[in-house]
Amino acid sequence: MDERRLLLVHAHPDDESIATGGVMARYAAEGAAVTLVTCTRGEQGEIVPDDLKHLGTGKALADRRVDELADAMAVLGVTDHRFLGPYEDSGMIGTPENERATAFWNADLDEATAHLVKVIEETRPQVVVTYDENGGYGHPDHIQAHRVTMLAVAAATHQVAKVYHCAWGGPERRARERDDYEKAGRPGGFDLPDPSQAAHQSAPVTTTVAIDGDLKAKAIAAHRTQLTVVGRFFALSNNVAHEVFDEEHFTLAHGTPGPANDGRETDLFAGVAL
Ligand SMILES: [Zn+2]
Repeated sequence: MDERRLLLVHAHPDDESIATGGVMARYAAEGAAVTLVTCTRGEQGEIVPDDLKHLGTGKALADRRVDELADAMAVLGVTDHRFLGPYEDSGMIGTPENERATAFWNADLDEATAHLVKVIEETRPQVVVTYDENGGYGHPDHIQAHRVTMLAVAAATHQVAKVYHCAWGGPERRARERDDYEKAGRPGGFDLPDPSQAAHQSAPVTTTVAIDGDLKAKAIAAHRTQLTVVGRFFALSNNVAHEVFDEEHFTLAHGTPGPANDGRETDLFAGVAL
């Protein structure tokens, strides 16, 4: 029996597929227990397709995104999904949505942490995945997901062996995406990525895991309100092209690195005693 247990903590519906859909599908297919916790239901944010713009923001949009998330989970073959609590999408800093008491950003940290501690005690993961302290690109809900996850791992009596932060890739990766997208003839008519606009990540990538990019693209496509997928490329509401690769990258933030290949781990469970 596979004793491996993986817990992923994400901010909104779609983040799980974009950042970690590959490892979720891979470990689930191999027989590991995979649990996804999503902190909000995606009440804010722009709706990409015209035929769904009538959903506006709030509950109607959240209900739709919950369904899209369920579809993505089915594609990934992951059955254990939970929402952290009653928290709502905070929107970006400086917007009125960000001031609301129900926003995840304004959640009581102890209370939010207690919700996640409960999940950790129940699922007993050896490996936990979330974002870095900047939330990858600065969205308040991603930063909050990071805080809550790190606090919960520290507070739980169950000892998590390793915590990883998702690595989005810097200017080099965006340059590769730009070149690939141009070479492919710009399917979908998205805008070219500007490598100089890449999110800054100071911590080095420690771990690169091979994944099924076709399957991942299919899971991403389930989030129809939020993005458009054409083959291996997709764009969020800003219409800038992203590419789905056959690998996902992580930075080990807590725990002992396992055996590496060319200086990088190739498995989130590398070196974990089971
Ligand atoms: Zn997000």
